[in-house]
Amino acid sequence: MREFAPWLQKPTQYLGAEWGRTAKDAASVRARVALAFPDMYEVGMSYVGGRILYETVNRVAGLAAERVFTPTDEAAGLLREKGAPLCTLESDTPLAACDVVAFHLTHELCYTNVLYMLDLAGIPFRAADRSEDGPLVIAGGGCAFNAEPVAPFFDLMVIGDGEEALPAILQAVATAREEGGLSKRDVLLRLTAIPGVYVPSFFDVGPDGAPVPLVPGYARVTKAIVADLDTAPFPTCQVVPFAQAVHDRLAVEIARGCTRGCRFCHAGMIYRPVRERSLPELEKLVAEGLSRTGYEELSFLSLSTGDFSALESLFAHTIDRCRRDQVAVSLPSLRAGTLSDSILDMMAGIRRTGATVAPEAATQRLRDVINKGITEEDILAHVAKLFGHGWQQVKLYFMIGLPTETEEDVRGIYELAKKVLAQAPPGTKRLQVTAAISPYVPKTHTPFQWEAQISLEQIKERVGYLRDLFATDRRLTLRWHEPEMSFLEGVFSRAGRELAPLVEAAYRQGALFCSWIDRFDLAPWLRVFDEAGLDPAKWLAARDPDAPLPWDHLSCGVTPGFLRRERQKALAGRITADCRYGECSGCGVCDFEGRKSELRAAGDAEIRPRCNRPEREHEAVAAPPPPAKEDLTRKAVHVRLWFTKTGSAVYLSQLELTRLFERALRRAGLRPSFSAGYHPLPQMSFGRALSVGVASEAEWMGLFLREPVAPGDIPARLNPNLPEGLVMVAVEELPPGRKVPHPIEETFELVIPAACAKDCLERWAAFTAADSFAVTWESKKGPRSIDARPLVTSIAAGESDHTVRFTCLFAEAYVSPLRLVEAVCPGLARGRYALTKVAVAFEAGGAAFPSGLMNQN
Ligand code: SF4
Repeated sequence: MREFAPWLQKPTQYLGAEWGRTAKDAASVRARVALAFPDMYEVGMSYVGGRILYETVNRVAGLAAERVFTPTDEAAGLLREKGAPLCTLESDTPLAACDVVAFHLTHELCYTNVLYMLDLAGIPFRAADRSEDGPLVIAGGGCAFNAEPVAPFFDLMVIGDGEEALPAILQAVATAREEGGLSKRDVLLRLTAIPGVYVPSFFDVGPDGAPVPLVPGYARVTKAIVADLDTAPFPTCQVVPFAQAVHDRLAVEIARGCTRGCRFCHAGMIYRPVRERSLPELEKLVAEGLSRTGYEELSFLSLSTGDFSALESLFAHTIDRCRRDQVAVSLPSLRAGTLSDSILDMMAGIRRTGATVAPEAATQRLRDVINKGITEEDILAHVAKLFGHGWQQVKLYFMIGLPTETEEDVRGIYELAKKVLAQAPPGTKRLQVTAAISPYVPKTHTPFQWEAQISLEQIKERVGYLRDLFATDRRLTLRWHEPEMSFLEGVFSRAGRELAPLVEAAYRQGALFCSWIDRFDLAPWLRVFDEAGLDPAKWLAARDPDAPLPWDHLSCGVTPGFLRRERQKALAGRITADCRYGECSGCGVCDFEGRKSELRAAGDAEIRPRCNRPEREHEAVAAPPPPAKEDLTRKAVHVRLWFTKTGSAVYLSQLELTRLFERALRRAGLRPSFSAGYHPLPQMSFGRALSVGVASEAEWMGLFLREPVAPGDIPARLNPNLPEGLVMVAVEELPPGRKVPHPIEETFELVIPAACAKDCLERWAAFTAADSFAVTWESKKGPRSIDARPLVTSIAAGESDHTVRFTCLFAEAYVSPLRLVEAVCPGLARGRYALTKVAVAFEAGGAAFPSGLMNQN
């Protein structure tokens, strides 16, 4: 993919050169896995599960994990045009040449993207059609607990935690290859010994839809579980993307599993029991994570962060660093009633992000049905605290179409939003309450797995009803999940293998990126159902609680008996307490206090809830007093740093470069001065943005630091914290004022391929002789043109017979040097030549920089 960078809009997504990435020596690798995320880079890079597996595998000598994402249309078009296969980012290895291709299945709408990636990789879709020596195509993630509609496409799936399972699979695959002589079936048979490994081809489907085991002794697959998260690897040097990711921050998983027992929640059932990371371990992960990545935002991740038993202590121990380094802490969807004054007080001194609350259902009756376990008083007290501490915008999450929902429950969403609005103190500026509603999709392994999903028409009707209500108050906003997407998700979330041909047919009819609102189209899906003579609504219907289900052979440890009991309690409006602090409700996952779980953890470790505190902390044990307010705008050092930009760094845009330096400064422990105002920004300035794709030996950055540092030490501290291709070569002390002189003259060296050197040199000679030379291009505002001839003040042959050096005076006007080169030599296609800025000068014909400064270091 790297060779296509010159033609791509977002080339840095395909370079695999980000800070924190791991690239292993090919000779040392016994088994290589492509961690394949079936969505765009910006989405996949936000997925913490992928980051954990990347770290877990790469920590093991002899194993290599590399990343691959669904390419954009533009990149996929190039692959097809050039006949090149989809490759991993780190080593540019074709997926078909990896030992394992492991897909993350995070939701049902990504299924056609899996086929798209296999297609681009030249790997046959169906496991049965693949050769003996090709890669194993595997899957994991929450959806693997019922990915039967895509089961024929995978050699195996991992259900549950991947930290132990994936390295074990890779080691076994490597050993099998080294032994030789084993068929793929033999290898798969061996792999069934690893907890959580599900081989779809070892099961058939009976006439009643029940899974039928085909291999003796392999009738039921139980999930893999890491009993104690402190023993599992967690990445602190996470890959820091150049290009912006959806969640571009340090994500620290503080706990896994949730036992609140919300009856709609798939994750809440499949990841039981609760396992909190210990406070000392978390403090280490946060400190190391922030200093190794340089991220300016930290997010505490878990299914229910507010339920973390030592949240106040965790905040108290991390807040100082966040305040000092201007690190924002994102408040995840904290459960109403779990946000204490002490946390809010601590957060008052740091950058804040938006606040969200998830009542899920608007009436107490319905909240009891779903076992949400919060009251309206909890919700209103929670938002009142948020408003009281300065938040002005609050987002509320609701579902529509929950079992037993009535019109009163739907109207209640509007009424509750109004009550939330009323909690804001009078005169609150920019007050906004947003209700985000999602149609409920019944999920497998939950007490509602037998319930019906409401129809597409009912979803639209309820959304329309709420839209009319919300339109009556401009301080209220309604957002809703696309009804057609929820409909399709519902069809596939509880389906069996019978729908696999339809996934394939829909892909062939162009269904791709189905979770993207601007790409989603239900039409191809409806067409393939129609062509197959099937009604998709059939899969939304209620299920007979006594009939077999397509996922009956896959166990997350929660027993069907528990799910049935919970369903009965839901219909009776009775709640079940959280076992984290209360009584065990006997879901079956744990094997303590005399109960036996069917799950097995590594080393036979005891499976039980693991919490830092026996009860939820409500006030910080030792919240540090707010430090004396530091003047972030203080300016102790003002320097200009000269740097070179070569190799893969030539594809960094100015925006990416700015973000990258901000993070590199943090990693280097250099504290920039900040601007004043609501969103303080580091005081950095740059020269004219260099065109993406042009190398440079003369880039510069102006920088104010708020703590004294010997200027000569700055490059030595920054360089080890910069990605490949960026090197600080000189430093220049500047006067304390804000003014930074800008160069006006830039000299470039063009290296032309020998084959077309003669023609290009003749064209440059013609350009030199011309009085004027129009360069035209298409801008966002229409066609543009500039006479480039007066801008070029000198043209000379370079050191070889196929190089040209030209100097541009950009005092009055500017033309992109790439445009200029391609206008002078129209036959010189992008990617076939190299262009480097070799020097700049502050006055026409003046001394060239940075050569005069080079010997300062
Ligand atoms: S077995 Fe009991 S303690 Fe363990 S997760 Fe289930 S309800 Fe909680």
